[in-house]
Amino acid sequence: MSTKKKPKKLAPPDNAFVQTMLQGWWKEASDQGTTEKTDPERMQFLRPSSLPFCSLRTAYTRIYEGVDDERHMSFNENFYVNQGSAIHQLLQDFVGRMKIEGVVDTPVETLGHWKCPRCGHKRRFTTYKRCTKCRGRSTYEEIEIRWRNTVGHIDKVIRIGNMLFILDYKTTGTKALIKHRMQMASGEAPLFPYVKNRAQILSYVGLFERVFKKLFKKGGPFYKCTVVGGILAYISREDVFRREFVYLPADAKTKARLLKQSIKDDKVFGRMLKVVEKPSMKGLKEMIEHKACSSREDYVKNMEDKWDPCPLAKVCFQRKKLLEELKGIL
Ligand code: SF4
Ligand SMILES: [Zn+2]
Repeated sequence: MSTKKKPKKLAPPDNAFVQTMLQGWWKEASDQGTTEKTDPERMQFLRPSSLPFCSLRTAYTRIYEGVDDERHMSFNENFYVNQGSAIHQLLQDFVGRMKIEGVVDTPVETLGHWKCPRCGHKRRFTTYKRCTKCRGRSTYEEIEIRWRNTVGHIDKVIRIGNMLFILDYKTTGTKALIKHRMQMASGEAPLFPYVKNRAQILSYVGLFERVFKKLFKKGGPFYKCTVVGGILAYISREDVFRREFVYLPADAKTKARLLKQSIKDDKVFGRMLKVVEKPSMKGLKEMIEHKACSSREDYVKNMEDKWDPCPLAKVCFQRKKLLEELKGIL
């Protein structure tokens, strides 16, 4: 005779029961998340998307915590990241294929790299066309921009006559878009661009002509063209009709300054890698020389991220305390 207890007979579930069960399950799932392996190679490069870059913070974190080869992501983070990537892909691919005619006097071309998934044929810095080899439908490939230790990806280049604009898509919430509009209307400083987004797009603007200088020579696709600035396209995650475009113009003088800054960041990043490889007080003191914030106010205004606060923020502006903290991780 079986000793197994018969399952308790449950009363037919009502709506309250289902709500409690599902809400609890959902919360549990949101808290758990997933851990994935990261590519250690990625850590060897300065990504313009992670600018503004602080050599001190990066060196400190990497020495203290080690170079993590795993990344934990909660369900919520995963949701936002994947949603952002999907919207990006769609915009790059779909908007990139559109012909923009009659909006301004000169035709507007959206340029990128295109790859045919059927035969693998690639076309670079060009407008969308069906594959010139097999007539397959090409898909968008990001434009990689590489300078020594720096690697970034550009969403799109827009050409109007001989003017080039570097464009980056940013997904955001509808609430933020409304707030931006309201602040603009009331004469307050607008919400966009965020400091991080501005630093990223301006680094592309500064580097573009230098990295792709061959393309600007006679016979190249950008002969006699000039990069005139960057555009940040803020698109709502929830409502495709809500968007804001922020234009950041850059004349020759500004571009020269931006290029200088990118080269400097790149060099400091290279030094930081060496300091992390062989940690020493001398190396960390060198990183202090290049640190990103000049004061607590500067940190709050330009570097603070409430989701990812700097672990050194409390001691960074009191030299004695900072040195003690750094000594403690060696
Ligand atoms: S407070 Fe600013 S300068 Fe200091 S470590 Fe953090 S980011 Fe760098
Ligand atoms: Zn093809």
